[in-house]
Amino acid sequence: MTSHRIAVLPGDGIGPEVMKEAVKVLELLKKLDPSLKIEFDTFDWSSEYYLRHGKMMPEDALDTLKEYDAILFGAIGDKRVPDDVTVWELIMPIRKKFKQYINLRPVKLLKGVSCRFTDEDIDFVIVRENAEGEYSNSGGRLYQGLDQEIAVQNTIITRTGTEKAARFAFEYAKKHGKGTVTSATKSNAIIHSMKLWDEAVREVGQKFQAINLQSYYIDALAAYFVSKPEEFEVVVASNLFGDILSDLGSAVVGGLGLSPSANLNPEGEFPSMFEPVHGSAPDIAGKGIANPIAQIWSAALMLEHLGRKDLAAVIMESIEQVLVQKEVQTPDLGGNATTSEMGSAIRDAIQQLL
Ligand code: ATP
Ligand code: MG
Repeated sequence: MTSHRIAVLPGDGIGPEVMKEAVKVLELLKKLDPSLKIEFDTFDWSSEYYLRHGKMMPEDALDTLKEYDAILFGAIGDKRVPDDVTVWELIMPIRKKFKQYINLRPVKLLKGVSCRFTDEDIDFVIVRENAEGEYSNSGGRLYQGLDQEIAVQNTIITRTGTEKAARFAFEYAKKHGKGTVTSATKSNAIIHSMKLWDEAVREVGQKFQAINLQSYYIDALAAYFVSKPEEFEVVVASNLFGDILSDLGSAVVGGLGLSPSANLNPEGEFPSMFEPVHGSAPDIAGKGIANPIAQIWSAALMLEHLGRKDLAAVIMESIEQVLVQKEVQTPDLGGNATTSEMGSAIRDAIQQLL
């Protein structure tokens, strides 16, 4: 069996703290299941690196990463480095160069975690368009007069880009036996770009007769995320709407400490990247109390992407066992366990299962 090569980028703040636990989980799986052939190389590209070298990563970083089967990413962000540097010089180049045009974010209420809005099961995914949309560098300060300044920020919605996101959402629904795709729109107010979004999503949907398409305006959809989160199966959204919905979805099912994501290049032409939804959490960095579950779950998504759905399932079952037992809980879950205690508890559960 071929070996999977993984590039590990722990990043800043709590990134390295939670990454350590995720890598230990993967090392354990490798030990318990010799059919898992996986190798890691760690890269220290981060804000620290920027402060030393004046750039977030070396010139040939993307060429280096291209040789890997997947990238496991922690978090990036440091108050000594402007946000637009960390985002536009590290995350965006990786997402763009490797055509990771889908950001997949599971919104799943794990066993042992309660939702304050519903007693029902919540289990859906957000398919966020990850390459264009509202997050573009097109625009600028157009005019600066005496008492007037004008900035224009262009939203780039392309028919092909939208179709690709929609197709991924419908294919995902089909593959996972889901009946409905929900599209986030605002074509009543954003009348040019969002109308094209609606058209493209509708056209793709017509090719999937067995799957129902519903479209909600983003404001109403945000409210439904809270009032009836159990109703959703697959939600497809533009870059900005998907970003906001992801954090909202995450809060509904227990917070950022429990929320993973995958930046996917669905064709598999380039490496995909797996990372928690949360950032570097400077407020708790260095204290050893961050919840490593989002990072460990991101590693599970990576294993699933690499064809090891079985091992991803073992990780998820172990996480849920620990959450149900409630003996080891990090502060975000209401307990006082440390990051490494949580990591150990999950590894103990894995050891019992395998
Ligand atoms: P960044 O600029 O890197 O995105 P941020 O402050 O905007 O950082 P997060 O890092 O996502 O955003 O943190 C938001 C809040 O959630 C913080 O209060 C943080 O402590 C908390 N948080 C984030 N991740 C975790 C985690 N894994 N465990 C516990 N708390 C977390
Ligand atoms: Mg943030």
